[in-house]
Amino acid sequence: MDGDFIVPFARRGSIVGADDLSMITDLVHSGDVLSAGNLRDQFEARFAKHVGSRYALSVTSGTVALELAIEMLDLTPGDEVIATPQTFQATLQPLLAHNIRVRFCDIDPVTLNLDPTLLRSLITDRTKAILLVHYGGYPADMDRIMAIARPRGITVIEDAAHALGTTYHDRRPGALADIACFSFHSTKNITTLGEGGMITLDRDDWAERMDRRRNNEADGLYTPAPAPAPFLLPWMKFSADVYRWTCTGIRKPGTNATMAEAAAAVGLTQMDKLDALVARRRWIATRLNDTISRFPGTRVQHVPPGIEHSYHLYTFFIDHNRDELVRSLHSRGVEVQLRYFPQHLTPEWRWRGHTEGECPVAEQLWFNSHMNLPCHPGLSDAQVDHLLASVESSLRDLDSTHRRAS
Ligand SMILES: *Cc1c(COP(=O)(O)O)cnc(C)c1O
Repeated sequence: MDGDFIVPFARRGSIVGADDLSMITDLVHSGDVLSAGNLRDQFEARFAKHVGSRYALSVTSGTVALELAIEMLDLTPGDEVIATPQTFQATLQPLLAHNIRVRFCDIDPVTLNLDPTLLRSLITDRTKAILLVHYGGYPADMDRIMAIARPRGITVIEDAAHALGTTYHDRRPGALADIACFSFHSTKNITTLGEGGMITLDRDDWAERMDRRRNNEADGLYTPAPAPAPFLLPWMKFSADVYRWTCTGIRKPGTNATMAEAAAAVGLTQMDKLDALVARRRWIATRLNDTISRFPGTRVQHVPPGIEHSYHLYTFFIDHNRDELVRSLHSRGVEVQLRYFPQHLTPEWRWRGHTEGECPVAEQLWFNSHMNLPCHPGLSDAQVDHLLASVESSLRDLDSTHRRAS
């Protein structure tokens, strides 16, 4: 489908080049193990250092990262989680499996992030967690969110799938709350050859539990049994060690979420390019902002000092004739998307009683004025020129039609 567009929205979010491929060739020729090897350890160490967390655990996708993160909360039916409705469905999906009550928190009309001024009114004595997204790479208002969550003992999870390369007052998403989840899907800011994810956190016990879970070991509570009989032969020692740990409670059986060694190898070279990849996104976004903000009735995302936006998504708003603008850009070969449909209005959540009017800002913006334009390093200079010229022409046409009508 997107092959028809001169400027596609996001076929790929990163550049996969000869440097990435040579890592894989070297790995294959080395004869080393192809799963969970030394390169995975290096990728995780590098990632943890980059975001400023104690631990980074790689997994097979951002979705799996979110599932493991939610499991650490040991939620029981009736518990409540406060979440943003303005996100991809994978953010909230793990909550469905636990029969959790979600209280959707409406969003800020510029950043599209969870609005911290509404948080207090949504907290009850069953609130266990806040699940937020750094929408498009614009960091959520973490100081205010943490100031509300910390004293109440509420866990905060960052869905940082868009926010690799973002900075927040000299810190980075991934180390701003309790647990963070990243995605290396093909369209994200870096990719581990199509699929992959990372969890970052500081807590030892959670890191240990997640490491077990992703490696086919049960997530259980173990207590040592009495010392094994002394007559064991050395080759029996392994079973004896296992026997020594008597299990008193299994929370979850293990699963296999191991990132392939070749994917981790590419992750390492992608980290080398991260700054350049994000710089290219910022360069395109700045030009789009300059072009769009000259037209009345538009709003762009201005970024305050102390914050660096990764522009995983380029977002702007138009007060009138949004759908007409989408059609006009499509006819010029520019692919527009509206990310994301408010989650509380999807069938899964409607079925649980959620409905229109619950998050008026998210609804009003998505149905009437929100737009996302292509903004990624896969675009050539010629494609960026075509994008800017098309946006300018479409807005000019729309503006003159609008003026004639009013
Ligand atoms: C991409 C994405 C995910 C899921 O990541 P996958 O690696 O595709 O499973 C989760 N949350 C958000 C906000 C995303 O954009």
